[in-house]
Amino acid sequence: MLCPCGSNTLYANCCLPIINGKQQAKSPEHLMRSRYSAYAMKNAQYILDTYAKTPRLDQSIIEIESAGNSCQWIKLNIRQCSKWDDSAQEINTSLPTVEFDAFYLTDNKVYQLSEKSRFIKEAKNDQSTQEQWFYLDGDIIKHSEIETIKRNDLCPCQKNQNKNNKKKFKNCCSN
Ligand SMILES: [Zn+2]
Ligand SMILES: [Zn+2]
Repeated sequence: MLCPCGSNTLYANCCLPIINGKQQAKSPEHLMRSRYSAYAMKNAQYILDTYAKTPRLDQSIIEIESAGNSCQWIKLNIRQCSKWDDSAQEINTSLPTVEFDAFYLTDNKVYQLSEKSRFIKEAKNDQSTQEQWFYLDGDIIKHSEIETIKRNDLCPCQKNQNKNNKKKFKNCCSN
């Protein structure tokens, strides 16, 4: 299957190896994409594990799971990522950000969630000295219902991007 993050590459070669720990996210964008894919695949544990240490304390896996089960993530659009260079400290004056639009379906309605997220590098746990990317927090730019999908409309999801093979909502993401 194609990766839910919309990269147009296979899930197995894109976000899956990051989610299952075989690879580390190379950049904040990489981590952001993998978190989106984990939302799409309903992997609440990964969402929890990729919060930075401080915000992680306020999160509960039950809440992430129940929020995730009430909607279906259908599309991701990365608007922009701030520049970041691991080897050049001088340009890293503030935490890197990724601005994105994510879309989800609930009860035949499409919602848009746009956020500017901040990322931080820290050690995975107290035993480890190696640092990796984590999601710190974000400012919500927009969160609102954008359209209602009827059964015969083309499905708004990213699963069927082939122009000649667009599926109707009733044959795709409709419950
Ligand atoms: Zn991906
Ligand atoms: Zn669909």
